[in-house]
Amino acid sequence: MANLGNPRNTIEIIQKYNFSFRKKFGQNFLIDTHVLEKITAAAELTKDDCVLEIGPGIGTMTQYLAEAAGHVIAVEIDRGLIPILQETLAEYDNITIINDDILKVDINQLAADHNGGRPLKVVANLPYYITTPIIMSLFESGAPVGSVTVMVQKEVAGRMQAGPGTKDYGALSLAVQYYAKPEIVANVPPNCFIPRPNVGSAVIRLKRHETPPVSVRNAEYMFSLIRASFNQRRKTLQNSLCNAADLSLTKEQVAGALAEMGLPAAVRGEALTLEQFAELADRLDSGMNEKEPSES
Ligand code: SAM
Repeated sequence: MANLGNPRNTIEIIQKYNFSFRKKFGQNFLIDTHVLEKITAAAELTKDDCVLEIGPGIGTMTQYLAEAAGHVIAVEIDRGLIPILQETLAEYDNITIINDDILKVDINQLAADHNGGRPLKVVANLPYYITTPIIMSLFESGAPVGSVTVMVQKEVAGRMQAGPGTKDYGALSLAVQYYAKPEIVANVPPNCFIPRPNVGSAVIRLKRHETPPVSVRNAEYMFSLIRASFNQRRKTLQNSLCNAADLSLTKEQVAGALAEMGLPAAVRGEALTLEQFAELADRLDSGMNEKEPSES
């Protein structure tokens, strides 16, 4: 099968199958060989690697991945694309095509079935409407994932990589950076896709930390603090945390913890580093666990 990174070959396949793009599935297919080479190189693949590709489309990037890796598992939600993939990928014997929603697939099971339980490398031109749920479920599920090299909306890539005190810094930056080291490897303009998206894109590589960069007793609790801190961006951290019903924190508890950490009472969430959120979580969590004095 001809290289689908060549726009002419992509158009030919689309016409042959009378395929209509489905906006609801975030279908923007890559038609630029330089970008395809760049993503594949950024994923640092060897023949020992098993790749999980999310949303292969008509198989354009899948061809590149199958050349570079030992095995490729390609999970595509759109049933209409499966016969096309069977044709475009027919000459490869190292690709498993699965017709399913990636958010419903058991990635632990995929790694067990296709890679002896060893970490998979995720590579994808992601559907932008579910970028964050996909990335968070890859990390939070605890599935063996060594790295995630993906095309995302440029603005989302910026948020994943942002540091404290910048306008892009938020709950996504902290969540991603707790699990992985992010690095934007390329900016990609709309004309590299068919149809053209309305936004700029970027390729970001997230290399998973072997151990998280901060230690925190209850990471789930830390993430609920982080979410509450950025829910109301213009408010002080103290007000945001006290207003979050699920946290049940008092002004005194939060003020006390901030003072012990040497932070000003009016500090905002966007000024805190991941280390500081971890420390705050440990202080407030133990504060919450202290029993109220009994009335006797
Ligand atoms: N990889 C192809 C390329 O680069 O040309 C297509 C990328 S396109 C941006 C996103 C792909 O993800 C589409 O093929 C779409 O049908 C598929 N997709 C959307 N939602 C999905 C989901 N929940 N699970 C699996 N695939 C999904």
